Amino acid sequence: MSRPKPLTQRAHELVAAHLESGGIAIDATAGNGYDTCFLAERVGLEGHVYGFDIQDSALQNTRQRLDTAGLASQVTLICDSHEHITRHIPEQFRGAVSAIVFNLGYLPGSNKETITRSESTTRAIESSFELLAPGGIITILAYRGHEGGQEEAASVKILLDTLVEQGCLLGVEESPGPVLYTLLKKG
Ligand code: SAH
Repeated sequence: MSRPKPLTQRAHELVAAHLESGGIAIDATAGNGYDTCFLAERVGLEGHVYGFDIQDSALQNTRQRLDTAGLASQVTLICDSHEHITRHIPEQFRGAVSAIVFNLGYLPGSNKETITRSESTTRAIESSFELLAPGGIITILAYRGHEGGQEEAASVKILLDTLVEQGCLLGVEESPGPVLYTLLKKG
């Protein structure tokens, strides 16, 4: 039997189906920049990506990865909590964002002291939903092995269930480690 795909790869596949060249995308947790680079490649020179992180070191890693890949010109990196996402997105793009990616937990390779937290994560997802275009997608990869991880994933699921009641489509893909939530705003 073939091994299941890593959920990071699954998230990219799902985003790719909703994000076209020239689109607007957000990486809510830039980290080491893998997702930011992926989004920047997808949107191309005509599109734009906004990448958020609260750690300078993460944004430096992301900037370096973008520079190496020649993708920096289509990305704006913002050092602020994703709960303030709306204030950094130009007005003309609010309600017009095609894809928003969350990769929760701690920065791989860091001291694990800075992690995403239930309260700010759920606030950021609520704001993200407002920014999303009809037909747009939010992916949330939630890790449950570290302290607070289970609680954060559970809080996210409760919030997503309320958005489903408002007519969104929710996907849940489990793995022994993280869980991938996908939210589609109806077109
Ligand atoms: N997507 C990344 C991994 C993200 S790790 C990659 O592919 O490499 C999670 C990141 O979230 C960390 O870098 C951490 O600094 C950041 N983070 C934690 N709390 C945050 C917040 N409130 N707002 C934005 N970023 C946050």
